[in-house]
Amino acid sequence: MNFYEHTLESLADEFESLGYKRFNARQVFTWVYKKQMHDFSRMSDIPKPLRAYLDTHYTIETLKVASRHESRDGTVKYLLELDDGERIEAVLMHQDYGLSLCVTSQVGCSFGCRFCASGLKKKSRDVSSGEMVRQVLTVEAEEDVRITHVVVMGTGEPFDNYDALMDFIDTINSPYALEIGARKITVSTVGVVPGIERFAEEDKQVNLAISLHAPNDTLRSRLMPINEVYPLKPLLESVKRYIEKTNRRVTFEYLLIEDVNDSLSHADELSDLLRGINCYVNLIPFNAVEEFNIKGSKDNQHRAFYDRLLKRGIRATSRREKGADIDAACGQLRTKS
Ligand code: SAH
Repeated sequence: MNFYEHTLESLADEFESLGYKRFNARQVFTWVYKKQMHDFSRMSDIPKPLRAYLDTHYTIETLKVASRHESRDGTVKYLLELDDGERIEAVLMHQDYGLSLCVTSQVGCSFGCRFCASGLKKKSRDVSSGEMVRQVLTVEAEEDVRITHVVVMGTGEPFDNYDALMDFIDTINSPYALEIGARKITVSTVGVVPGIERFAEEDKQVNLAISLHAPNDTLRSRLMPINEVYPLKPLLESVKRYIEKTNRRVTFEYLLIEDVNDSLSHADELSDLLRGINCYVNLIPFNAVEEFNIKGSKDNQHRAFYDRLLKRGIRATSRREKGADIDAACGQLRTKS
């Protein structure tokens, strides 16, 4: 098994069941994550038989890099190979606040949003928690950097792979591992209501983003098939409960697609829909996907939509696109090879 599949808790459980101390897990985590020691036999403060046990039962490798593409704006897209040969992408972005990695949660995606390239390849399997951790470690090692922010916005639906997602967050957040603050971690969901409900019960300060993209059910169902299962009413009710429970503001992502969802009346409808919810809307420019015959909104329409939301009392931000020239922008991730 790969060592990175363990959370601190699961490793401590294993050590305890073998007759060792739970705190040995903290020591081993510190060796692996803080001192980057990948040779169990050299972990000097660990009992010798435990070192031997680890050595025979665990591998401790990052992921194979299949290719690396750097965009003109400095965004770097990695094509990574998993142990069974499946390939996934991870994207490193330089933000003014730090270095952010966009992590993939499933190999392919079966949600079939009409505008998203990731859905062109159906899900073949989930990405394990260790494989998500290894995306972070691989890019850190390759670039010789420390990643400060993680967004689970790569290929796949994180709430369709819930337990692995939570284990991943646990490890990157752990003070004995990568120590990335919860507030620097964002999970983006297509709107899987049971996932939002569960997430509300976790005692974590992780950010939640909801891919909304339309202000009414007719349009949203046309763009996102998941809306037939979880329409706007139950979706927004679950978001309100999440906010009540966690006291955290949520982000609604809204992709601006020309002549589809970008008119000022759509902006008005969106304002009415979200009024009173502690949120802000992140307006995302649509990134071209060659298979789809849809276009992003023109700049002036984007600005007009943004202004209208503000005028209607809805907080909004506008996300700049990054890495479009290397097919690394939102919704462009897929494995062409
Ligand atoms: N399944 C999750 C996370 C992966 S998608 C979700 O749906 O949120 C990450 C974000 O990229 C989502 O908001 C998605 O709607 C958006 N996206 C998909 N295709 C896009 C495209 N072509 N241009 C811009 N954003 C896109």
